[in-house]
Amino acid sequence: MYDKNNIFHKILRSEIPAKIIYEDDTVLSFHDINPVSKIHALVITKGLYSDFPDFIARASAEEVKHFFAAVAKVAEILGVSESGYRILSNAGPDSGQEVPHFHLHILGGERLRR
Ligand code: 5GP
Repeated sequence: MYDKNNIFHKILRSEIPAKIIYEDDTVLSFHDINPVSKIHALVITKGLYSDFPDFIARASAEEVKHFFAAVAKVAEILGVSESGYRILSNAGPDSGQEVPHFHLHILGGERLRR
């Protein structure tokens, strides 16, 4: 069950600011407020999904494809397509997911530790 009382929903509603990297009808990307690597971007859906399992269960095939294409586009914009990057999504209690709105992290801009 999606809970609208989360920080990314506030960013989507423009109630709090974010350093936007990319936006289209269904996707928003912005810089993480607390980066763990030189480049640390977040890519979120405008659709209200709480985590990856929720997204993959309820989003249309077109929406899923569009989302991942947008992630690749954001990597291009950030200039890490050639140098490489890591994408990850936390889901569920063991992952430590902090914000219950589906998002992918893009990490890069330096050699990442395993
Ligand atoms: P999660 O643990 O849910 O996968 O990751 C949530 C991410 O959101 C964290 O990396 C955290 O630094 C980031 N974050 C939390 N609050 C804000 C905020 O208000 N603005 C931005 N830009 N990032 C945030």
